[in-house]
Amino acid sequence: IELKAEDLRTVCELGQGNGGTVSKVVHVPTGKTMAKKLVLIDAKPAVRKQILRELQIMHDCRSEHIISFFGAFVADPHICICMEYSDKGSLDQIYKRIGAIDIDVVAQIALAVLEGLTYLYDAHRIIHRDIKPSNILFNSAGQIKLCDFGVSGELINSIADTFVGTSTYMSPERIQGAQYTVKSDVWSLGITLIELALGRFPFSDDDSELEEDSSEEEDDPDADIAHYIANGLSSASSVDTERSFASRDSRDSEESFGEGTLSPRRAPIALPPPTISISTASTVSHPDTDSTTTPGTSRGAPKLSAPNASSAAKKNRRKSRGVSLQGGGMTMSILELLQHIVNEPAPTLPAGKYGADAQGFVAKCLEKRPEDRPSPKELLGDPWMRSAREEGYDLVAWAETIP
Ligand code: ATP
Ligand code: MG
Repeated sequence: IELKAEDLRTVCELGQGNGGTVSKVVHVPTGKTMAKKLVLIDAKPAVRKQILRELQIMHDCRSEHIISFFGAFVADPHICICMEYSDKGSLDQIYKRIGAIDIDVVAQIALAVLEGLTYLYDAHRIIHRDIKPSNILFNSAGQIKLCDFGVSGELINSIADTFVGTSTYMSPERIQGAQYTVKSDVWSLGITLIELALGRFPFSDDDSELEEDSSEEEDDPDADIAHYIANGLSSASSVDTERSFASRDSRDSEESFGEGTLSPRRAPIALPPPTISISTASTVSHPDTDSTTTPGTSRGAPKLSAPNASSAAKKNRRKSRGVSLQGGGMTMSILELLQHIVNEPAPTLPAGKYGADAQGFVAKCLEKRPEDRPSPKELLGDPWMRSAREEGYDLVAWAETIP
């Protein structure tokens, strides 16, 4: 069927992200309920057409762990993407409603995400690029499905200027400008799983330690990272949008659509251009911890060297407890968070509360060097995943517990 704007009746809004707004709609001619995503893009008509062409690949993505695609059209100045509606929403909404998610459910989520990622990569050479709780959807049939994967390079380029929040799930190598591979998705999965199991985003500042520790060693490796990031930001503002990425004719070629497609011509990190972010207060405040954000601790312009967060982390290291997982609210500038991800030990599932198999799996996902990190396919053979598959879980019954 050809989708047209006038055939869609809006039922309600489902949520808003940095890149767009998602609504529940009914396609009147067929009576089908859909989720309609409006993405505001800054692109010329030719590029918009190219985006639509690239999005058509989603018609071929058929897997029980991938949200189905119904079609897309231009609705100036937006691109409108119509997809399968998921009646229990995304996993961030779910854990904010019911709290930390049982680790056995988290295991099923990990399994579904790995199967979805493996399908996307093996069947279509697609790397997701945006794994996080809000892009994992759940429905009352007990199905777990991925949405918002990076199928269109032109779309990624065209919305790059308006997107900020996603960077917090970004792997260390990607922050440093390395090629994007399926292993970067595995890192994001690791962060996501800890977030779901704890019921909150795993990176947090321990504010009490930030005040005291300003007299630190002067040889600060973070300054280099800050440099990298600043350079990444300036090149992000000049991303070349004429380039073909996932167009039908090139997608079978390993060279143009294999691991690391977006580099080296692409900016290392997709952050807003310097005019937007670097000179303003780009504070990362996670939605569920916003209420605990104290204005005094939210810093203005990010510091390009020796930020407090890293001093605190050095202190943490001396106490040999790595990243603080127990802290309350989180207020870290985006640069501090990125530096933290690159320089400090990866977060872990706290010992005691979780089984060794779950901890071990998450630790593999969060290996800091991509060479040491398994691929999604390799992780499907992990002991935690094997027992998740064997034992199963009644996700339909679990869905009934979610209001
Ligand atoms: P970001 O813009 O940083 O990627 P996001 O994923 O939250 O964040 P959107 O992709 O615009 O932003 O989605 C907004 C919200 O809409 C999501 O958080 C999710 O809860 C909801 N949503 C998205 N797609 C669907 C869908 N197919 N069915 C039901 N709810 C959906
Ligand atoms: Mg999304």
